[in-house]
Amino acid sequence: MKFLDEYRNPAKVKSLLREIESIVTRNWVIMEICGGQTHAFLHHGLDEMLPPQVELVHGPGCPVCVTPLEQIDKAIAIASRPDVIFTSYGDMLRVPGSSKDLFSVRANGGDVRVVYSPLEAVQIAEANPDRQVVFFAIGFETTAPANAMAVLQAKNKGVKNFSVLVSHVRVPPAMEAILSSKSNRVQGFLAAGHVCAVMGFHEYPPIAEKYHVPVVVTGFEPIDLLNGLLAAVRQLEAGEAVAENQYQRAVRFEGNASAQNTIRSVFQSVDRKWRGIGLIPQSGWGLRPEFIEFDAEKRFDVENLLAQESPLCIAGEILQGLKKPTGCAAFGRECTPQSPLGAPMVSAEGACAAYYRYHRELVTYE
Ligand code: SF4
Repeated sequence: MKFLDEYRNPAKVKSLLREIESIVTRNWVIMEICGGQTHAFLHHGLDEMLPPQVELVHGPGCPVCVTPLEQIDKAIAIASRPDVIFTSYGDMLRVPGSSKDLFSVRANGGDVRVVYSPLEAVQIAEANPDRQVVFFAIGFETTAPANAMAVLQAKNKGVKNFSVLVSHVRVPPAMEAILSSKSNRVQGFLAAGHVCAVMGFHEYPPIAEKYHVPVVVTGFEPIDLLNGLLAAVRQLEAGEAVAENQYQRAVRFEGNASAQNTIRSVFQSVDRKWRGIGLIPQSGWGLRPEFIEFDAEKRFDVENLLAQESPLCIAGEILQGLKKPTGCAAFGRECTPQSPLGAPMVSAEGACAAYYRYHRELVTYE
């Protein structure tokens, strides 16, 4: 297969669905970790074509969704300062903080700019030496190399007015947190292909073995997703639990060594709070001591800012696969994409936004 259309071939989709149907004999709960995969499943209607024994639950792999509310409030506090140019990817601007979002900071005169790369933020800092330029460095292992590169570049060029508000998270510790929870329902994982393109999948065999769950590295097109599901169901039915790569055109076991070295030269593993889930040990990237001068939290003294979540939002249960978005009482009522209560309804990758956009019906779970 060479072209994208081939990964959406209807005949092949039907054949894979038939194959899954032919081998499944019991109920299985499989989590796709990545929000991009959630949207792809719903966009193509694959979730509704699966045999009823295969239940998909949607994982915490949406960086906007798992960025804690207080981190949004910190961004808003920094962006509201007259001496700051605050830069971010566009999807963070609509995420509501405790009282407002970054768009409203901009509407009230704050200098909030959308950038397409953190290196652009470094350039803005160089062009504005009398202003402080802050980049909102959120995301999984996929965005970490570019963000690390921006910090390296700022250090090498001596750009002193650049800093980063870091909220990076890592996938494997989140998988372990889900699997070790007493209320866990997940029996198999589809691992996110783009994360594995950077990190490889050498961290997954120990997880598959320890918790006895299949972990299948999967891409984002219908054929990729169904091949991933087929491999996971095949393992589950056979009582096997190994890490397997169904995205071989993009992912190697060891990943991209150069990107990993760049990450590790700037960041180190730290404990990180996940929105709705709580603190997960060693689940984030934080700046190494030698780069601490670029830490916006310290520079602007917002480290200790705390925030209170909406009591209506059950994003934590959704991100752990315990409930579906339609199981939230606020879904489509108090919470819509026009007036979101929680990040999963704001983000382009959020499960709640996907259910709303693709009109999934109300489903209740015990
Ligand atoms: S529908 Fe809204 S309130 Fe409910 S979990 Fe999703 S984001 Fe939170």
